[in-house]
This record gives sequence, C-alpha cells and structure tokens, in this order.
Amino acid sequence: MSDGTHTAEQVTLARLPSGVELTTTVHTYRGGDSGPTLYVQAAQHGREINGTAVLRRFHDRLPLESLSGTVVAVPVANPLTFDRVSYTAPDSIDSVNDNMNRVWPGDESGSLHQRMAARLWEHIEDADAVVDLHTGSPDMLPHVVYLEADEPSAELARAFGTDLLLAEEAAEDAPDEWHRRGFAGKLRVAATQEGIPSITPELAHSKQILESVVEDGVVGLTSVLAHLEMLPREFARERDQNRVDAPIVARNHLGQVTAEESGLFRPNPDLELGQSISTGVDLGTIYQPATYEVLERPVTDREGILYTLTREATVTAGSKLASVAIREEDHALE
Ligand SMILES: [Zn+2]
Repeated sequence: MSDGTHTAEQVTLARLPSGVELTTTVHTYRGGDSGPTLYVQAAQHGREINGTAVLRRFHDRLPLESLSGTVVAVPVANPLTFDRVSYTAPDSIDSVNDNMNRVWPGDESGSLHQRMAARLWEHIEDADAVVDLHTGSPDMLPHVVYLEADEPSAELARAFGTDLLLAEEAAEDAPDEWHRRGFAGKLRVAATQEGIPSITPELAHSKQILESVVEDGVVGLTSVLAHLEMLPREFARERDQNRVDAPIVARNHLGQVTAEESGLFRPNPDLELGQSISTGVDLGTIYQPATYEVLERPVTDREGILYTLTREATVTAGSKLASVAIREEDHALE
C-alpha cells in the first residue's frame, strides 16, 4: 500500500465574453488502495459558501494513507456566482440559463452555464457517487435530498447522516411544478439518472460560514466515504443513541406555504424547525407596516415536518414562508 497522492489542477470552464478564461481548481485525492471514485463539489450557487469551507477542512483532514479509491473535489464549481455572492448569474453572462443547477449534464456548445457544467461533467461521468453541497435559507433544518426509490442514493443520504432526509419524486412521478421549474437539470437528478448514486446536502444558510455546519458537513462527507468503504469505519458519524426518532425520512420538496400579501412577516414564535405539524397551524402574521393592519395569517396546508420557516421580516406576495415535508410512513398510507 502506498501513501496516496493529492493533485490540484486548474480547469478552464468556459470563455467569458471579454475573452477571459473562467477557471476553477479540481482537487484529486488518490488513495494507496484501489476503490470507488467520489465526486464532490460546492458553490455552484456561489453564495452557498459553507460547502466550500467544508471542502477546505476535508482537505486538511483527509488521511490519504487510509483512503481507498479516488475523491475528486471542486470547491468553487461556479466562480461567476461565487464572485457575485449570488444564486444565479446575470443575463449578460447567461441569458438562457441563469441557474447552473438546471442545466446538467451540460452542453459543450450551449450557453455559458451549460458549457461550465459540461466541463465538470467530464469529471463526474466516471464517478461512482456524487455529493453536491448546497445551503438554503436562514431558517432551515439541514437535510439531504435524494431521488425517491433510488436505494443507493438513499444509503448515501443515510450515511451523510442529517436528522432529516428528503426523498424527491422525479421524472414521471414528479408533480408538474417539478418539471416547470426545470428540476430535471439538477446535477443530482442528472447523475442519478445516469446510474450514479447522488445526494444534495442542504447545510444551514447561505452567505455566512457557520462553524458547526462546516464541522457537520465534513463529518457527513467522511461518513459517506466510510459507507463506500473508501475510509475505515471509524470515520463514520456516530449516531446519538438517544435520538431514536432520527433520521426522519420525508418527502415533497415542493411543500411550501407562500405569502398571499406583501408586508412585514412575524413568524409564530412557538414553532420550532423539525417539529411535526398538522394542517391549519398558525405560521405567523403578515401585517401592513405603516397602518399595523393585519393582512394575512398564513397557515400550513399539509401535515408533516416543518423544515423551513422564513425569518426575513419583509415578504412579498408569492415568496416562501415555510416548507413542510410529508413523512414517508404517512404518504405510504395514502
Ligand atoms: Zn444551492
């Protein structure tokens, strides 16, 4: 057994209108023993910087001498949105596909995001598993999303080990909204449909690096490696034996309550993320900030697990207030 190697390669993702080449760094860790290949990336939505921080800490901590197989890691998958600290790219950069996570597996002669994805896909297509690190809204329970009914992906999600796992219906099983929003072009979906088990961890919130989240992300990642037998078992997450209820497996990525009125939103202070919630529960109050008039008292429209509750004070009609996922054992009875 050799000690293993690490290389860092500058890869050109696309050429910008000015002629400047857009590059990023692809890290490759080769273990001394043979084994599977895991591809992991962060920040295809550039404001989601906790994933990037996870990969740096993973780099510092990965024991190459204990690694079997290969890890390919891309800490900044989308430098365009990273520099803008944004979710999407502006029209001037990509007027066709503003969201990189709707274009996978990409197209080498397509729009800018499609070309970037196609370039990264060259590192993905031969992988045995994919972890696409993301973050969400300020008040969101960390969770891992995977394609429902894809057992190898479900196993990766359980190995990553957040308390909440979300199974997403896809393709012919998916609701219209899933298709309308272009979710078939997510990296996780495209890779799973190519037979590569894939997960999307959604770690805390965007734009701010949170110590506990970074640590949790590294443990999740090494747990996935242990599950794939790329690292010894001691790198797997130790489950708190007192948490008999975890993980909660739920479904419906689209179970959102949105605001009907614009104004200031005060969430119901009695609610806690991760709690079971029934239909018709008071989510808070939207009021007119100048006259104090109560405009709306939004309520849940389904029974399930409350996994996001917006804390932003100003809301506009149509914006998301809360997300409720349906427990797997409940929808199985439907
Ligand atoms: Zn994202």
